[in-house]
Amino acid sequence: IRADGLSVHFTLGGLFDRRILKAVDNVSLDIEQGSFFGLVGESGSGKTTLGRALLKAVTISKGSARYDDGEVSHDLASLDGPDLKDYRKRAQLIFQDPYAALSPRMTVRDIIAEPLEVMGLTANRAETDERVREIAAKCRLNLEHLRRFPHAFSGGQRQRISIARALVSGPKFIVADESVAALDVSIQADVLNLLKQLQDELGLTFLFISHDLSVVAHTCDHVAVMYLGRLVETAPTRKLFAAPRHPYTKALFSAIPSLDPDDRGTAQKLTGEIPSPTNQPTGCKFHTRCPHAIDLCMREEPQLESEGGHDVACHRWKELMSAVPA
Ligand code: SF4
Repeated sequence: IRADGLSVHFTLGGLFDRRILKAVDNVSLDIEQGSFFGLVGESGSGKTTLGRALLKAVTISKGSARYDDGEVSHDLASLDGPDLKDYRKRAQLIFQDPYAALSPRMTVRDIIAEPLEVMGLTANRAETDERVREIAAKCRLNLEHLRRFPHAFSGGQRQRISIARALVSGPKFIVADESVAALDVSIQADVLNLLKQLQDELGLTFLFISHDLSVVAHTCDHVAVMYLGRLVETAPTRKLFAAPRHPYTKALFSAIPSLDPDDRGTAQKLTGEIPSPTNQPTGCKFHTRCPHAIDLCMREEPQLESEGGHDVACHRWKELMSAVPA
């Protein structure tokens, strides 16, 4: 997936109080085939809308996005008709809440089979059943599970049902939107391991959306950080965790509890609320919360600057990286 200057703007209000909500604004990124790409940020940062835009589930207002899996290539901004139908098969979403995502009135078999039937991907019931059994087994569900209703299952098992439903059409690109956030920590590891295993087995590419950097650290090979609809930093996971460059990313890190007894928590904590996306600050969008903001930050918006495969949008990142902590 390659996005170039991608924006998703919504118009709110009526004739006299019309406001533009810039949920995603001028985002460019590359998600390489076969990668597990993390997208992090607080709620309201635009990461869910960006994920939806890459699934063509919301309208792209400006810029472009292209999907290419070596077999087909789609321009997402103008996708419709048979090409859109084809893309629906190739790109799927795993929802956050395994309790709300599954209809309580359908058996697990019917829940998993529904996308095949809606998209007309199988010729008859026997073929559908075979495909459902196959994907259920990959997601560690058995035949007995298929006859039951979702309420009979725990959160982790329900998420495995959601994953099987997302994978049954044979997609190549998966957006997993906070897919483990509603689960207990012990179950999270189990579901993450399953996603990694399925990635290897089925050759999947993931956009893994999360507010939790510690989950991203163990799962993703590349990470992008979003703030108020913009990408502020992106790098391979090891580089980002070894030396984050953007003050916002550093503040997100400070929210991760440390096991080091010598860590006195000197990192800058994130304070205040994310500003309203309908009334964004001028210049750097983070300046209202950044302890390092100077006049320039309020006047001019920093652009992503790349150095050593690590991109950051901050006027002062070099200076701040070389500063010796007090
Ligand atoms: Fe902070 Fe200025 Fe960098 Fe924005 S550009 S993150 S306000 S130092």
